[in-house]
Amino acid sequence: MADYDAIVIGAGHNGLVTAAYLAKAGRRVLVLERRERTGGILDTVEIAPGVRAPGIVHTVGRLRTSVIDDLGLVRHGLVLIDPPVRVFAPQPDGPALTLWGDASRTADELRSRSAHDAEAYPTFDKKVRSLASFLAYLNAATPPDVKNLTFADLLTGLRAGRAFRELGARAAREVTRMMPMAIADVVGEVFEDYAIRGAIASRAVLYSATGPWSAGTATTFLSDAAGNDGGAPGQSVSVRGGPGTLAEVLTSAARSFGAEVRTGAEVVRVLTRDERAVGVALASGEELFARAVASSADPKRTLTTLVDPVVIGPHLLWRAGNIRTPGVVSKVNLSLSALPRFPGADEERLRGRIVIAPSIDHLERAFDASKYGRISEEPFLEATIPTLSDPTLAPEGQHVMSVIAQWTPHALREGDWEAERESLADLVVKTMERYAPGLGELVTGRQVLTPVDLEREYGLSGGHPLHAEPGLDCWFAWRPLLGHASYRFGVEGLYLCGSGAHPGGGITGAPGANAAREILADLKKKKR
Ligand SMILES: Cc1cc2nc3c(=O)[nH]c(=O)nc-3n(C[C@H](O)[C@H](O)[C@H](O)COP(=O)(O)OP(=O)(O)OC[C@H]3O[C@@H](n4cnc5c(N)ncnc54)[C@H](O)[C@@H]3O)c2cc1C
Repeated sequence: MADYDAIVIGAGHNGLVTAAYLAKAGRRVLVLERRERTGGILDTVEIAPGVRAPGIVHTVGRLRTSVIDDLGLVRHGLVLIDPPVRVFAPQPDGPALTLWGDASRTADELRSRSAHDAEAYPTFDKKVRSLASFLAYLNAATPPDVKNLTFADLLTGLRAGRAFRELGARAAREVTRMMPMAIADVVGEVFEDYAIRGAIASRAVLYSATGPWSAGTATTFLSDAAGNDGGAPGQSVSVRGGPGTLAEVLTSAARSFGAEVRTGAEVVRVLTRDERAVGVALASGEELFARAVASSADPKRTLTTLVDPVVIGPHLLWRAGNIRTPGVVSKVNLSLSALPRFPGADEERLRGRIVIAPSIDHLERAFDASKYGRISEEPFLEATIPTLSDPTLAPEGQHVMSVIAQWTPHALREGDWEAERESLADLVVKTMERYAPGLGELVTGRQVLTPVDLEREYGLSGGHPLHAEPGLDCWFAWRPLLGHASYRFGVEGLYLCGSGAHPGGGITGAPGANAAREILADLKKKKR
């Protein structure tokens, strides 16, 4: 007799979502987390006395509404902050650009830059929302298992076909044309101003080892807009209290449904019997048994380090080892003695994402350097100042700037990250200072997390933020591997429920919720 119906490996947000859904359905669930706290990459960290910063993640705009509602997250203390501004994009030589949630407000402000782009913007925003609705549909579905098509897969296909037809003939043609495209071409067809092209395109390459001229980045862009109020500029929603609060909220929700959550419990092996997952072994030597094992660790780590290679066989082991995880993202948190001054920006404009991506060329050059193991002297940065919307994070008057820096390759061509860590922080401050003169003098503390730190501290293969690249080769039925995209993963009884599964990374809860649905369906069928 198994100890549990399901054991979930990892208490990142997706692992907690899976556990909460399973426990809510009356199943006995245990979550095992190797770190001392839950939340995975959702972390709030103290970077100077009394100053708390979003450790890694800073926006949570894609958190699925049904997850919030189904798990009663508001009852557990979730408060989302959704400012009207989405992007403030300062420029090296000229006035800054602001993208608002309200497309007509954006268009009004664009008029002084380009009458053509002001005219085009609302139509583009509407088109993105409409095409993204189809991707939102796919994101909620379970991809088919191409090797073993079932009646459920057939139904999913029929429903997807209906959703596709509902787009209308023109939009349906447009979505299939656009998805394989490079985002640079997509924005180049519509806008003439370099600044707006860069600001919008940056959304398609965030967290990935792709540049704006990489094929398929339009799909990443549409996926980002899917299922939320993203539209052309994307979302800028944050959590009151910082991302760590969302981790506490999810843990509290999972426990309220009866799930057990243990921290400091590293799983070292998935136990198998007759080529079926039956439990896990912990680093402490303890063995625990369950009817289903769900891993929210990344797919490469799950198959290449946790499962017996004899059970999965050399072919699958080779495929798992080749899942692309090129981590190129670093995080720099700055504590500031006062609010930095960006010319042309009042406080309202700084409450969303501050994006340093003044053109497609700027982005592509910054990406290019990473292909040769280098960091560009002019990186792409996305920053937020969470203390503007959430003063609980720092003493009065002080601020936090949370900066994502790209592209910073895990494997540097010269030197190593121990030596380069502080140079990266210097580069980020120097780059920001160009747009916010005097910012350097306000810095009272800084914290740097490189791709190597992300791998070591958060268990991400290659330091990849999304557990696997979001390219078309790892999308929908191909995520993370063709034939293993239906959340059933590698061996019978083992499931994948983290960002490496469809529909991918970001704080969405979507892979976790979709995986729970499949696990529940299988548990109902099996009466062991
Ligand atoms: C620098 C950076 C910035 C980001 N910013 C944003 C952002 O602003 N907005 C956004 O939406 N997304 C952002 N992301 C992406 C987002 O954070 C991830 O896609 C998401 O957090 C992954 O969640 P998860 O639950 O799938 O996995 P994780 O958060 O990685 O959780 C997996 C958990 O499994 C645990 N684990 C692994 N192996 C074992 C084991 N053997 N035994 C027990 N436990 C184990 C890990 O410790 C971890 O807690 C960012 C990522 C990075 C790196």
